Amino acid sequence: LCQSVFLGINRSDYMFDCGLDGAPALKQIEINTIAASFGGLTSRTAAVHGRVLKVLGRSEEASRLLPNNPARGLALGIARAWELYGSQKAVVMFLVEEVQRNIFDQRCVENELWSRDIRVIRRRFREVFERGCLDAARRLYVDGQEVAVVYYREGYVPKNYDQQNWEARLLLERSRAVKCPDIATQLAGTKKVQQELSRPGTLERLLPGCAQAAARIRATFAGLYSLDMGEEGDRIAAVAIAEPDRFVLKPQREGGGNNLYGEELRQVLEKVKDSPERTSYILMDKIKPQPSMNYLLRAHSPLQVSECISELGIFGVYVRQGKEMVMNEAAGHLLRTKAIEHADGGVAAGVAVLDTPYLV
Ligand code: ADP
Ligand code: MG
Repeated sequence: LCQSVFLGINRSDYMFDCGLDGAPALKQIEINTIAASFGGLTSRTAAVHGRVLKVLGRSEEASRLLPNNPARGLALGIARAWELYGSQKAVVMFLVEEVQRNIFDQRCVENELWSRDIRVIRRRFREVFERGCLDAARRLYVDGQEVAVVYYREGYVPKNYDQQNWEARLLLERSRAVKCPDIATQLAGTKKVQQELSRPGTLERLLPGCAQAAARIRATFAGLYSLDMGEEGDRIAAVAIAEPDRFVLKPQREGGGNNLYGEELRQVLEKVKDSPERTSYILMDKIKPQPSMNYLLRAHSPLQVSECISELGIFGVYVRQGKEMVMNEAAGHLLRTKAIEHADGGVAAGVAVLDTPYLV
């Protein structure tokens, strides 16, 4: 590795689980370590909802909405990594999708960088493959511009990787540019790692001398179960086949719409239960959030009150140089709300809407 600076932009997602005793508790759904999105657009949603409340004559309520600006926090992390790279003329490269559906979210972060006099370019994998190279010191150049930081908003689903794109990824990975994320950090965000982190003793080993912190983190974990071959996996697979509605079956995928529930979960587990194919999934206790009534404003859908559930994301940004943590901060929040009939899928999948928490 020729770069000792690491930049992480994470979003840890939670739902309010009502549990058996009825006391609501935040339970982690997952942590996103690559292309965690909507930090930009959600920096605007509190203003939108504040305005709506004012129009309705609810200024008092409007004044109580929490300020929220993840775009700035994310950009501060990127800016810090750029500074540590140490070249005034080097740029930040956003690695973007082939078809750019979420460009305005990304622009919010980009604008924060330009306003700090940091140049930003946007490129696709294909363009990196065709026009990217490393010099003898493994400095990365794309279209002749030196790249200090690569910020991935792409590259988290297998279909992003044909042979050329793999080669582009390898080029970026080997380069001196700071990667957000590097490959190890991306893998740390998989469902499998989430499940392994929840094993008794693991957090405690990773946070030595922080028993209280470990306990607080552990309290946000729902039950997570390995489907590795062996007795432990056999046992939980049998339980899930018998009671599929207690669980969610998760493959190692990102982006929404991949999880299996209920009858479908049962059928898939039946099919793979005796083969190593089952190890590509994990099982998770299904969280049962308390629904609330709300209006979802979506293009081409009638406006009607419906039963909704919300998912709260907390952005975290860190910069590490070797063993030294240079920056490690919460950067704001994201609330996504959807109708209860959608078990899976977020805003990008066309199911959820951006929302604003209102504390009571
Ligand atoms: P992805 O990486 O595809 O976003 P997630 O783990 O976030 O995968 O799951 C996608 C969606 O499925 C979540 O936004 C949530 O609505 C639902 N979901 C995931 N895990 C659970 C769970 N344990 N209980 C209830 N719903 C869940
Ligand atoms: Mg998710």
